[in-house]
Amino acid sequence: MHRYSELVTASSKTQYIVLTLLTLGVVGGSAWVLTIAQTPSIPSYGFLGVYGTAVFILELISAILLFSHFRQTGSLTFALLGMAYLWVALLAPFQVSLLTDSLGQFSLITASNGDAAWLWLAWHLGFPLFVTAAMWVDDSAPISTHKISRWAVSLIGVEIAVVALLLLVTLLSWVTFPTLVPDGRDFSDSLSLIYGPAVMFCCALALTVVVVKGKFASTIYSWLALALVAALCESIIVVYSGSRFSYGWYAARVLSMISSGAVVISLFIENIQLQHKVVEQNATLKRMATMDELSGLANRRELDERLKAEIKRSMRERTPVSMILADVDNFKKFNDTYGHVVGDLCLKHVASCLQRNILRHTDLAARYGGEEFAILLPNTFEEDAADLAEHIRKTLAYSPIMLETGQIISVTASFGVATLTPNSAADAIELIRTADSALYKAKEAGRNCVMRPPQSWHHQRDTLEQKISENTRYLRNGTAVTSISQSGG
Ligand code: GH3
Ligand code: MG
Ligand code: MG
Repeated sequence: MHRYSELVTASSKTQYIVLTLLTLGVVGGSAWVLTIAQTPSIPSYGFLGVYGTAVFILELISAILLFSHFRQTGSLTFALLGMAYLWVALLAPFQVSLLTDSLGQFSLITASNGDAAWLWLAWHLGFPLFVTAAMWVDDSAPISTHKISRWAVSLIGVEIAVVALLLLVTLLSWVTFPTLVPDGRDFSDSLSLIYGPAVMFCCALALTVVVVKGKFASTIYSWLALALVAALCESIIVVYSGSRFSYGWYAARVLSMISSGAVVISLFIENIQLQHKVVEQNATLKRMATMDELSGLANRRELDERLKAEIKRSMRERTPVSMILADVDNFKKFNDTYGHVVGDLCLKHVASCLQRNILRHTDLAARYGGEEFAILLPNTFEEDAADLAEHIRKTLAYSPIMLETGQIISVTASFGVATLTPNSAADAIELIRTADSALYKAKEAGRNCVMRPPQSWHHQRDTLEQKISENTRYLRNGTAVTSISQSGG
């Protein structure tokens, strides 16, 4: 699978509705603003600082997240989109700082008249051109994983170098550009003639490419389209707005912030969706790692883990642990007679019978392997475990499998039960071995029955138990320790 599809999420229906409403709002609002664009509004001298900061932060977050997408997917589209946002993040603070009123009623940086206009042009042309390139680039063969870092460093490095050069050229007046905005404030005439249409054209081009090639297929493309609609409206309003602090001027700044924020929103939405997906996938993986797919019971690994934990707990609490091993009778013949598909059905039938009949939430029914099942019963005495095994045996024997064809097939199983109060971790193996021996005895006895360990085994365990408690007493009194072995002999 393309690494891209792992990360990029599709737009939901709700998103389409929200985006349509927002787009209508942006376009309608802009059309209305055009009618009062030149009307002077109240001057807010702190506004430019707030605007510059907002644009810088939003663009930088977008750039970082888009480059992170590039790192995960190797898709050059994301790299170029990241460059589009980085371009603005690098230029915007300088451009805004050049304007009078960027710091109270003064400019943060002083440069020759008209530099701000040229930087504005570089910002507003660069962004849509990077977006157009991003959508145009061939994305079918992503950059291979080991080359991604080198690509990212090179692209960011080149971009920073170009921006630095541009800033040096303008701010240090290495080159004197022709004046675009004569008095530094009222730019409607020059804009309408020179760079307004150029910016409009580039925004319209980028928007068309995003719509045609992106087809609103992903959350990012959909919100990017909104960003470009806002940028296009901004470029139109800029041309028709009057001097600073006119309604049009404020509206253009707001549109610029919408344009900067749209992709951040999309990336956050995507992030929320991805988090949800990761949590779901983790739950699935966890289920798959602990569950047997055919029977729906716990798998062998889960049984081993739980057995280990229960043995430890029983050692601490000095409580008995029981194990029932069940094996379907003559299953090979069953398979040979009815086929493996019905054989699998039979295993599911047996599994569901076991699951339905275990009572405590601490009990665990598991598929031990093939047609063998195990039930782990913590804090359960042998008598009770044997009773449960007998109950399950009867239930299974009296509830035949009913096939869709109407055929009724009876199935039985043999059961081996074992119980011990563990003294060491090795008792996990001892418990299974004893239950397995009992199961073997059940098969020998003619199948479809429950067997328990022989008295001799109980006697051995009792002797071992006794020696351990004596030993503990000796240890407590500080006297010699007798040697004991697991066999209890
Ligand atoms: P016994 O009563 O002594 O247990 O006889 P049996 O035929 O059940 O025992 P045996 O161990 O000889 O055969 C077990 C059969 O179970 C062999 C194997 O083909 C079948 N089997 C194991 N796992 C699966 C499975 O997942 N699906 C199906 N359909 N059959 C399985
Ligand atoms: Mg078997
Ligand atoms: Mg069998």
